[in-house]
Amino acid sequence: QRMIGKMKKQKAKVLIGIALFTSQCNAFILHSSIHKVGIVTARRIQTSDDIVSVENKTEEVIPTMRFNDTDTDGSDDDESLMRDNDCSIVNELELRKFVKIVNKEDREIVEEGIDLAEILFDKIIDTADDALLMMRRKMKESDAIQEPRAADVLNEWYDEGQPRVLVIGTGWAGHACIKVLDTSQFRVLVISPSNHFVFTPMLASTSVGTIESRSIVESTRDSNPFVRYIEGKALDINTADKTFKVKLGKDELTNDREAICIEENEIIDIPYDIAIYSAGVGPVLSSKNIPGLSKENVYFLKSVDDAKRLRSGVIDLLENASQPGRTDKERRQLLTFVVVGGGPTGVEYCGELADFINDVTGKRKSRLAPFASLAKLTKIILVQGAPDVLPAFDANLRQSARESLEGEGVTVRTNTKVKHIIGKEKLVVVGKEDGVEDTIDCGVIVWAAGTMPLQLTETLIANIDSTCREKGLAEPSSLSSRGRIPVDKWQRVIGVPDGSMLAIGDASGTVVEGGEAKLLPQTAQVAAQQGAYVARLLNRQYNLNVENPKNMLYLGPPTKNQAKGRESVNIEVRGRLEAKPFQFLNLGQLAYTGGGEALSQVELGDKKLFSQAGSTGFLLWRSVYIVKQVSTKTRLLVLFDWFKTQIFGRDVTRM
Ligand SMILES: Cc1cc2nc3c(=O)[nH]c(=O)nc-3n(C[C@H](O)[C@H](O)[C@H](O)COP(=O)(O)OP(=O)(O)OC[C@H]3O[C@@H](n4cnc5c(N)ncnc54)[C@H](O)[C@@H]3O)c2cc1C
Repeated sequence: QRMIGKMKKQKAKVLIGIALFTSQCNAFILHSSIHKVGIVTARRIQTSDDIVSVENKTEEVIPTMRFNDTDTDGSDDDESLMRDNDCSIVNELELRKFVKIVNKEDREIVEEGIDLAEILFDKIIDTADDALLMMRRKMKESDAIQEPRAADVLNEWYDEGQPRVLVIGTGWAGHACIKVLDTSQFRVLVISPSNHFVFTPMLASTSVGTIESRSIVESTRDSNPFVRYIEGKALDINTADKTFKVKLGKDELTNDREAICIEENEIIDIPYDIAIYSAGVGPVLSSKNIPGLSKENVYFLKSVDDAKRLRSGVIDLLENASQPGRTDKERRQLLTFVVVGGGPTGVEYCGELADFINDVTGKRKSRLAPFASLAKLTKIILVQGAPDVLPAFDANLRQSARESLEGEGVTVRTNTKVKHIIGKEKLVVVGKEDGVEDTIDCGVIVWAAGTMPLQLTETLIANIDSTCREKGLAEPSSLSSRGRIPVDKWQRVIGVPDGSMLAIGDASGTVVEGGEAKLLPQTAQVAAQQGAYVARLLNRQYNLNVENPKNMLYLGPPTKNQAKGRESVNIEVRGRLEAKPFQFLNLGQLAYTGGGEALSQVELGDKKLFSQAGSTGFLLWRSVYIVKQVSTKTRLLVLFDWFKTQIFGRDVTRM
């Protein structure tokens, strides 16, 4: 803080950038030096002649402190910086220089288009804030061991007490939200059919066994031990009564043991004070334009179950093709893998599948491979409707991706549409430019093109529409949010009058006043940032409900009461009176393209920093994914799996 105060603006921006990068990549560094950033959470400063008193909101960690203000000469006297509790503090003069102080009379209005430096600065503050919260939670965990909780989760839920926050979904958005939510302020209940979070960018790796599926998941109960979880699927919502209708139990019947579970299923109503909707989107299960597209005919890659099915499906085909008495034509068909969709999921799956096939058939290494006899009979075809694969990447990277895939033996067919799917083993494709049709006989079709809204999301939008209609308001579904739940800039669902419902992640789409949609990409990056954002909105005690709003659909910024006392000031850092809207900070994108090559396009907001393809890109890809793992456990497991595959080769057992 002292350094930045003395630096020129440009240098300060660079420093903030570096600090953000460090904090994003190595949050633990911040954790270890957390005692030095305690000051940024200060909410109230009081001054007398030679004394600065800082009242910290997180009293449990750093109690109210009083410091002699001996450092007004601006000297870099380290002695004067280190005080009681080993907390560093700058004097008020410097603090005022460093942060904008917002007085009662001089309230700042949140402007559109906040600059990058400000977003970065906020990110640093947020990271520090989260780290403090985690620290407090860790300290509480040891006390909690002695207090057993009621076996029936809902007993505590119906009691009077702290506000009840109901989180729907345990994906990227829901997971980030429950990690950051302050459970000392709220009772938090999570509903989802899957009792874990999945690191989806690595699903393609698990679908061929490069890494094991258990290495990329985290149990919801471990994500935050203070939240309660119910395995179930939300079916409906009543926003007026503030209840979700939930079907208890697992979502899918996969074996007899689970069948017993399903028979005992109940449907119950679960009330809430604040609901956070993060149920994501589903795969395209059917399409009027593509007859035959169904979950019976194609494989998807959306969940751990999908990845497991795909893994054993591919090994099935290899075993099947190895059966005696088959002709080469039959073997060729069985070993033709068609992947539809040239976005990140389709390309990464092709890259991983090519690695797997090349390893198990011995194409890459001249050793006795398990399916070496099938080496000349395998084929992977990537079908992409657009003129190029990975349209979101720069042109030179797209070219590298194509070369890399083709180098690994993948046939890339761009400008090609799927017209018809006939059973599990045949599809008709058509060239977009020449209109020429082609029938492909194959062993497996993997559908990695597009997503669609969940039934629940459609029900939710319809319910909100009817409530708005009754009140004579415009129907939110008329807003151009393309099947996503329309939310305002603070992620509140438009049309829920008291702001008691927030929607985040793939399921939500921002619509600004006037009806213009500002849809962000449906990515893990956006979902995780939104999850953490809404949690902080609640932790910082913003009032989501706006009394007598000018516009019943767009309620305006959530606010909070200003600190009392004549001399009190509100530091913009953490305690600004009006909540800032959600600001997405784009950090770029990555994609694995097979053969130990990947694309890494590193960005900061709308600025492209650098991009790498090939093996350097691959190194970056691996480093980022290791750092971004959600726990030390998964980080170690992923590293171990990579090592295991490298040393011992592929596991071709079918379970
Ligand atoms: C294979 C694959 C690779 C990807 N790679 C990348 C990548 O490299 N980078 C990137 O940024 N993004 C990537 N994505 C996209 C990213 O995973 C999504 O954008 C992200 O998961 C969205 O998060 P979400 O929380 O909105 O939804 P999800 O993560 O889909 O989570 C939805 C949650 O809601 C639960 N749920 C569903 N229905 C109900 C219900 N009725 N009641 C209660 N709970 C319900 C689900 O069980 C799940 O827990 C990838 C996606 C896939 C499938």
